[in-house]
Amino acid sequence: MDKLIYLDNAATTRTAPEVVEAMLPYFTENYGNPSSVYGFAAANKDVITRQREIIGDAIGAKGNEIYFTAGGSESDNWALKATAEACESKGKHIITTKIEHHAILHTCEYLEKRGYEVTYLDVDENGIVKLDELKKAIRPDTILISVMYANNEIGSIQPIREIGEIAHEHGILFHTDAVQAFCQIPIDVNACHIDMLSASGHKLNGPKGIGFLYIRTGVKIRSFVHGGAQERKRRAGTENVPGIVGLGKAVERAVSSLEERTGKERELRDYLIRRIENEIPYCRLNGDREKRLPNNVNFSFQFVEGESLLIMLDMKGICASSGSACTSGSLDPSHVLLAIGLPHEIAHGSLRMTLGEETTKEDLDYVVDSLKGIVENLRGMSPLYEDFIKKQNN
Ligand SMILES: *Cc1c(COP(=O)(O)O)cnc(C)c1O
Repeated sequence: MDKLIYLDNAATTRTAPEVVEAMLPYFTENYGNPSSVYGFAAANKDVITRQREIIGDAIGAKGNEIYFTAGGSESDNWALKATAEACESKGKHIITTKIEHHAILHTCEYLEKRGYEVTYLDVDENGIVKLDELKKAIRPDTILISVMYANNEIGSIQPIREIGEIAHEHGILFHTDAVQAFCQIPIDVNACHIDMLSASGHKLNGPKGIGFLYIRTGVKIRSFVHGGAQERKRRAGTENVPGIVGLGKAVERAVSSLEERTGKERELRDYLIRRIENEIPYCRLNGDREKRLPNNVNFSFQFVEGESLLIMLDMKGICASSGSACTSGSLDPSHVLLAIGLPHEIAHGSLRMTLGEETTKEDLDYVVDSLKGIVENLRGMSPLYEDFIKKQNN
């Protein structure tokens, strides 16, 4: 196998060479602690401030509303736990959806054990939140609405502006997990009334282990890590300077290329979808056709087992996923595919392919050609498929 075709960019991305290059001096020469007083180290404070501004600009926020964290999971945990605690006197009810990432869902379960009540909204068959159900779920004691910007498995993009308006009208805080959407879709926290937003470096060709939480000025939220005065005393610990520089560089690059890059991705995405639908029978595209991340393709293939599909693709040098990376390894079908109403046996035969900035049409041709043969082979071994074909022929 000489070439690796990487179609798992929703799980993580390659750190761009310019990003690595920007980071390197902060391991070697500029290693000073930004909290130290001497100039050599204190210069790193300005470097961090500059990155905050670059990132703030990307979402219409101020630099001092950006708080660096260790990634998307930490940002999600912080937003939910610390808001819950800070707003306890108002109420203990939280609204989220059934299709969130586990960083949200498992945090909600944790809060439920501590006396909070959580409403998990259903989504429609395309994986989009229903606004009337959101309105109906709001109670006087609702303190937080957390809805992801775009889904990591099926790519569905939520009506974030409308959700923000509803939250704002009711005086409820609004958090969004934008880990997949950030730098794929233009985001404006003011137009969408977003109070808190989570994002992560390694999903946008930046380094792993760095992310941020945007917290709107004036939002009541507890500190997440107690200790030093870093991150305006809200998240203590010596700053991950190389990581922060890498994140800033990754955002700068992703913002400047956004239109061109996602335009190209969208074209390739639709090409891949078209070829699969035209050439492989008994398949179903999961997620909304239009309101969809530019790089997401998710299909279910009837009479095929997702894990077998992944193994066979791997043998051809193709990296894909059957759902989210966190659920692979378990036999439960994806909670997202169940939430859009897929029966268990269909949800099991699902394949997610997420394109990246380096994906080419030739890659996708190779993938579809391989996939056709693999699906045919696997179906050939399926007694269910044999029965199905027999019935079709009768
Ligand atoms: C990847 C991902 C996360 C977790 O981010 P990490 O930086 O890996 O902790 C959270 N939410 C969504 C939607 C994701 O895709």
